Amino acid sequence: MIDSSKISHIGIAVSNLDTAIRTYETLGFQVEKIEKVSDMDVRIAFLPMGNTRIELLEPLSRESVIAKFIEKKGEGVHHICVEVKDIHKALQELKDQKFNLVYETPKHGAENTLVSFVHPKSTHGVLIELCQKL
Ligand code: ZN
Repeated sequence: MIDSSKISHIGIAVSNLDTAIRTYETLGFQVEKIEKVSDMDVRIAFLPMGNTRIELLEPLSRESVIAKFIEKKGEGVHHICVEVKDIHKALQELKDQKFNLVYETPKHGAENTLVSFVHPKSTHGVLIELCQKL
């Protein structure tokens, strides 16, 4: 199971990061940082609110998973991320319980983290990201 005390962020797929940032700034969010994540082929912006954050994700190529998501479903909520202490342990436990993992070996995410995802097919339609700070 996921042993976490924090929802790290909620990921939202957007076609154009700059346009989306302006929208979310108008809503009252403020950009904390913008970063490229080459492992995922995306550019992202983090916008904190309360003790969690919105993560806007813009695809950097047509092959990016975010480009494919937008093509299929349009812009919108892409994933919920929970922070874990030991991602390898968490992934092994989820695998043992027959959850469908997107990456059995974690990849490098934003802000010096290791990340993987639980496939929406095994979580009632919601992609769940696990992240561990390094
Ligand atoms: Zn994320």
